[in-house]
This record gives sequence, C-alpha cells and structure tokens, in this order.
Amino acid sequence: MNLKSLIRPNIWKLAPYSCARDEFKGEARVFVDANENPFPNGFNRYPDPLQLSVKESISKIKNVRPTQIMLGNGSDEPIDLIYRIFCEPKVDNAVAIAPSYGMYGVCADINDVEYRTVRLNDDFSLNADAVLKATDERTHVIWLCSPNNPSGNLLNRNEIKKILDSFDGIVVIDEAYQDFAAESSWLTELDKYPQLIVLQTFSKAWGMAGVRCGMAFASEEIIAFFNKVKYPYNVNILTQKTIAEALSNEQKMREQVKTILDERAKMQRELAKLGVVKHIFPSDANFLLVRVTDAPKIYKALADRGCVVRSRHNVVLCENCLRITIGTPEENEIIINELKTF
Ligand SMILES: *Cc1c(COP(=O)(O)O)cnc(C)c1O
Repeated sequence: MNLKSLIRPNIWKLAPYSCARDEFKGEARVFVDANENPFPNGFNRYPDPLQLSVKESISKIKNVRPTQIMLGNGSDEPIDLIYRIFCEPKVDNAVAIAPSYGMYGVCADINDVEYRTVRLNDDFSLNADAVLKATDERTHVIWLCSPNNPSGNLLNRNEIKKILDSFDGIVVIDEAYQDFAAESSWLTELDKYPQLIVLQTFSKAWGMAGVRCGMAFASEEIIAFFNKVKYPYNVNILTQKTIAEALSNEQKMREQVKTILDERAKMQRELAKLGVVKHIFPSDANFLLVRVTDAPKIYKALADRGCVVRSRHNVVLCENCLRITIGTPEENEIIINELKTF
C-alpha cells in the first residue's frame, strides 16, 4: 500500500495547529502559556490533547501500542475523519456493505464523497468478490462492520481476509459490538495489514454511550494523520476521567456482557415461541434482528404501550424486521409479555 497516494494532498502537506500542550509537555512550576484561568476547579486546564494516560490503559487491555490508538468524540468522529483524510470530495469514493451502520453514508454525503453500497447475501453474509468488484482506482476506503449493525452477525473471516489481501486502499472494520462476539478481534492483524483501521467504542459493552468516546486503531503512520486533523482538544477532561475509571474495572464490563449474553439466549428461546415471530437472525451483538408478521404494526403497538424497539422495515434486506436491544432481565420480560398479546 502506498499511503501517500491514498491521503488527500492538502492533508498530506497540512501543518497542524500547534497548541500550548503540544509545545511544552511534562511538569513545571508555573503554567502561564495557555491563557487559562489559574484558579483550580478540576477543569480550568485544557485536557491532554493526545489522552496519553487513557491510551496507556487501553493499550494494556487491547494489547496494542498507545501510538496505534486515536480517541474521538464517539466513533462518529473517526468515521468523519476517515473521509476528511482519505477521500477527496467529488473525486474519490468509498464502498460499503448494505445494510450497515448509517453514519458511513451520512458522513460520505457531508463530505461530498461518492458512497457505493454492495448488498450482503440474504443471510447477511459477506461476498468479498462483490465488494471488490464495486471498487475502482478511485476507491480509497472500504467499510465493513463486524458484528454488523443491524443484522448482528459476524462477517466471515476468510471473506474479510480476501478483501484485505486484494484491496490496496483503506479497509475499516467497525467492531462496535466486538465485546459481545464469539470470535476474536481484528486488532491482532494491525501489524500485518498496514491499510487496516479497526473501530471500537465505549458506547456499547462499556456502558458509556453518554460520555462519547470512540477508539480507532491503526498503524502509527495512519494515527499520526488522525492526530493532525482532529480538533486539538477533542476529548474533554470529564470524558477522559470517566473512561479511565471504567477501564480500571474491566471485570464489571465483562460481568455485564455475560448477563447480556445469557439474556440474549433467553430472548432467542422466548421469541421463537411466539406466533408473530417469523425468524430470529443469529447474533454476535447485544441485539437481535427479528422478522415478524407485520413490523410497522407491531412497532406502533409496542410503542403505544411504552416499549420502543427499532423498526428496520425500510432497510435493505430487513423487510418486516425489528431490531431489539437486549435490556435488563426485567425489560426483556416486559417485551416478551407484550409480544405474547399479538
Ligand atoms: C453504536 C455503533 C457505533 C458507536 O458509535 P459511537 O459514536 O461510538 O457511540 C459505531 N458503529 C456501529 C456499527 C454502531 O452500531
């Protein structure tokens, strides 16, 4: 892979903003270099622009080097940055699977980048040849999501490998649901595939959707471009502190994931008994995609009774499908009991 040919020329030669905390790092007696208010209240200082302490903790859990990590305001930030770094508006294009996460397409539109979608097979499995066929010499990015949203399935490893082995551009694998999955992460392959970017997030298994923190993992070279383009202080002090606290209790996350997986199995059994349920797609995530007799009608009736699921009826391959997140045991029971009345 030739990184220079994939990066927008203006980004390749960009001289990034140099903030006070870039120019002087470390301890000092007096900091009067950033025009901050000097009276301590916990937040009067700017945050660490590179979040080094948080990245140290993440690197131990994920078994990658801290320099292979970029942190953002949710995964949404690295998703947008990938276009801004790699895709020249109106010139380059990106290829994605369908159905998948909506933000890849929205950010393509915002950045005026052509977004090509390739339908998954009817069982939501990946056809690598079809994806590769949709690419041309102006394709700079391929979006994969595994486990995929809204289908819940892991994409086949060998099919992904085929794409990584034959495509010269950036391949993103969004692993937002990886902690719920039975197979291992692609993080172990970062050193083997210099064009690979893996996305993960604190929003799902870690229970931190409200603090907004997403992770991008890639080669040191690619991460350096993320750091050049991102807002200097993109992850605030409250978020950095809260994430550090969560990371110090990985066990708690693992226990909650285990409960959610037990509940997912229970939901699969209970849903399978219901007359309105036509099919439950296999899931490696914290939700189930369920084909029902009449999704719009059941969605509305559930909402009227205070139970909000996600209708995916209008999404490609998802006709009459509802996406149901696994809730607490009590919440799941409420959903099942309501569905029993149809
Ligand atoms: C939920 C989700 C995310 C998380 O986005 P954040 O901005 O980190 O909250 C990313 N990708 C997919 C596929 C998701 O479903």
